[in-house]
Amino acid sequence: ATVPQLLEPAQRSKPGDLAIVLLARDNYEPLILEQSTGAVDGYAEGATLNTRFGSFPHSTLLDIPWGSQVRASAVDTGSRGRKRRRDDSGDDASTPALEDTEGTATPTSAPAKKAVTASSGFIHILRPSPELWTYSLPHRTQVVYTPDYSYILNRIRARPGTRIIEAGAGSGSFTHASVRAVYNGAPKSDDDRKGKVFSFEFNESRFRKMEEEVESHCLKDFVSIKHRDVYNEGFLVDGKSPMASAVFLDLPAPWKAIRHLSRRRPQDMEQDPNDDSEWVSPLDPRKTAMICTFSPCIEQVIQTVSDLRKLGWVEVDMVEVSNKRLVSQRDRIGSYLPKEKGANPNPADVTEALSKLREVNQKTKEFTRIKANRGEEGQNDQMDVDGSNPEREPNANNKLDESSTEKVWMQGRLIHRAESELKSHTSYLVFATLPPEWSEEDEAAAFAKWPCGN
Ligand code: SAM
Repeated sequence: ATVPQLLEPAQRSKPGDLAIVLLARDNYEPLILEQSTGAVDGYAEGATLNTRFGSFPHSTLLDIPWGSQVRASAVDTGSRGRKRRRDDSGDDASTPALEDTEGTATPTSAPAKKAVTASSGFIHILRPSPELWTYSLPHRTQVVYTPDYSYILNRIRARPGTRIIEAGAGSGSFTHASVRAVYNGAPKSDDDRKGKVFSFEFNESRFRKMEEEVESHCLKDFVSIKHRDVYNEGFLVDGKSPMASAVFLDLPAPWKAIRHLSRRRPQDMEQDPNDDSEWVSPLDPRKTAMICTFSPCIEQVIQTVSDLRKLGWVEVDMVEVSNKRLVSQRDRIGSYLPKEKGANPNPADVTEALSKLREVNQKTKEFTRIKANRGEEGQNDQMDVDGSNPEREPNANNKLDESSTEKVWMQGRLIHRAESELKSHTSYLVFATLPPEWSEEDEAAAFAKWPCGN
């Protein structure tokens, strides 16, 4: 089977690859790289990515190490004339930040004139990973973010070889993360090769989109996606059990789906009188099954917990992931400039701090120039943070502060704060365990292994 790029990506970009374009901090866009059709008259460049930072023909993004910074094309190969760009229109709201065009711009006799955004900006081209996909994927629903799914996958014991049931697929964020968890690049046993994600989605357009993504990300061998109402139709695939041992339900009413996840036909599930076939469980009878449900309301949790217990699930507990990103940084510059030198200990804003920095830099330059003119090399060149030299200025604070030898930006107090905007879809996570089937034969076999057996 082809090894999907998302699971084992190569070191350099190539045509057909999914790339994640980093436009600015926390601003990612996915892009499928296309083979360049070659320059025409040294100008048209085939498929081109147009951003507000400039134009990037795909040819400049190919065969380069992942993580590379790429400068905008010297010539605007973009879609001017067909779609207005931010730079041209000055109208941010009307034009998307990024367009991927076919690069059909017509060569003109004076291409240089088109170099409106010549090398005006740059992007970084990143190797795709499930985490970056989560950041950049086209949102069709609320998605599960990395802080939640990393914890969930750990708790439901997803590892190479695990078969996971997931519903609903939604935007595929969890699907991509879980497929990597169950994929084994170096299988040692048949069990290791069995890892697969069985995903179900009720909404038809989301299902079709997921099918396309699974296909274009070469995940078909590792993800089965079905168009299904799991409340009514359960989790069998073509009438057969997926033999799963891990389940993740991100559904509005998970309790309606849980009844399909028992070892035996639930008592309240009526059997069609014309159907005498045996109940088929989607779970592997030989393995302990782990489940996680993801619900925003406590009422949903209560109903889910109650139904899990009734159906024999044990070790039921609930967790809320409350992730914080801590940012550590230096305190603002104005707050540590000596008061007696006129600094405002609490600068109102960045502009004030910047103007103080500029003043300091100016003084530093002046001091260096005077020193050079006097030929004072080798003499004490300590400067206070505001650029004065305490050794030579009798009126200045003559006490040499240890910290004054440091660069200005090194001198603020080191502080930290929690970043509030960490993307996470706060929900309650309910976990539970269903023990494996245990028959008379299992008991006899186990007993026979005891030293005092027989
Ligand atoms: N976990 C997904 C992700 O990370 O991208 C997001 C899931 S989204 C919040 C919930 C999805 O469940 C929706 O796409 C919805 O169409 C689907 N859904 C709702 N009821 C369903 C049902 N009875 N059977 C299957 N899918 C269902």
